Amino acid sequence: MNKSSQKEAAIRVGQQITLTIKSLGINGEGIGYYKRKIVFVDKALPGEVVHAEVTDVKETYAIARLVRVVERSPARVEPPCPVYEECGGCSLQHMDYQAQLASKRELVIESLRKYARLENPPVAETIGMDNPWGYRNKAQFQVGRQNGRLVAGLYQTGSHRLVDLEECRVQHEATNEIVRTARQIMEELGIPAYDERKRTGVIRTIVARVAFATGETQLTLVTATEEFPRVKELILELRTRLPGLVSIVQNVNRKKTSLIFGDSTRQLWGKPSIAEQLGELSFDLSARAFFQLNPEQTRKLYEEVKKAAGLTGSELVLDLYCGTGTIALWLAPYAREVRGIELIPDAVEDARRNAEKNGAANATFHVGRAEVLMPKWAKQGVKPDVVVVDPPRTGLDDALIRSLLEVQPQRIVYVSCNPSTLGKDVAKLLARYELVSVQPLDMFPHTSHVESVVLLTLRGAKE
Ligand code: SAH
Repeated sequence: MNKSSQKEAAIRVGQQITLTIKSLGINGEGIGYYKRKIVFVDKALPGEVVHAEVTDVKETYAIARLVRVVERSPARVEPPCPVYEECGGCSLQHMDYQAQLASKRELVIESLRKYARLENPPVAETIGMDNPWGYRNKAQFQVGRQNGRLVAGLYQTGSHRLVDLEECRVQHEATNEIVRTARQIMEELGIPAYDERKRTGVIRTIVARVAFATGETQLTLVTATEEFPRVKELILELRTRLPGLVSIVQNVNRKKTSLIFGDSTRQLWGKPSIAEQLGELSFDLSARAFFQLNPEQTRKLYEEVKKAAGLTGSELVLDLYCGTGTIALWLAPYAREVRGIELIPDAVEDARRNAEKNGAANATFHVGRAEVLMPKWAKQGVKPDVVVVDPPRTGLDDALIRSLLEVQPQRIVYVSCNPSTLGKDVAKLLARYELVSVQPLDMFPHTSHVESVVLLTLRGAKE
């Protein structure tokens, strides 16, 4: 037996093991060790001793299924959602909310320790929600037929079974009501769900959206065909039973794809968009327009960005990865000029429209790659004072980090949705920058996601 097979023999699939959970992983799973091998146990909490059955063994880790909690964490609570086990949309409902916030902070600290080699990174307490339920302004549920009944929900993790989600507790009640009612009416009218395998039927997805500030709601039906039966009756019933609805939209997606939306969108009834406000800013949200999913926490996030940016009114601010421009517009009243860069042309168009709507004359938006456009501007003599970055989960491109180290803005405000890539990127930025503050924020309670607003200042900069 060689050395590696000896190691593998220490733990095998099907084996029952008892282990102590030491910490939470980035997906909300419990992490423990068995014979020095790292073991991930879903739904186990730090401090718990658990019995688990090994389901998978890899070179560097193993995965085990929780069988029984032997010693229970005081943070363990009964998950309120009836389909918590099947759904997979949430991963921390079995943990007390305050403990969730503490563990999210811990994840950020751990990542900065591990990647940026900072012993005591300056990480504040996680900003949570007073009421961490009903926070999502958009429900996007697949439609299917199950046991002779129309069902709307999400696919079970790792399977193709739809989990009925008419009472999803992280959704704003208005979105649940729209999904429930639309499903009911379609059932009554006999409008069929789209069947992916047979490629027959009509309704693929129900998208319900609510504007928190105005209460306006929108329903988008994603269909596999342009025409479908009884559409007039459907609209009439929807309007009657959902008086808050101001916009009914159809999007046609004929393709065999896991993407939700197709290319063509048409208005079935009412306005094309709903009116939303965030702080001082107003937005018209069309069916396809991107908007942050938790408005209450987004407002707090942007306030943290503003605090970190430390604006006096004389600065040139770049908002990189700007999406529909909301951060740039949030900062525009406090800066001399703001410029956003975003890859997706449609989002840039939305950003420009939002700027106009909000009278932000000092804000411009540019289509392109942040790592290409910023260095190009730098060559032309554009010298930003503050650069805000809000990258996707993959973090900052290496070329962008090199460019930041050359351009040397006084402040970098890094908005992160992934502590791992944050840690790695901060490690590189430490070459010229000092890590001043890290503010974790809970945008998605009961899931393992954590956002952070990070302030880095140029070393030896004259303030
Ligand atoms: N700041 C926005 C959200 C940004 S999400 C807000 O607060 O609402 C990240 C954005 O980065 C996405 O819109 C994505 O299209 C964009 N993106 C991804 N890679 C990019 C790149 N290399 N350059 C510029 N934008 C990019």
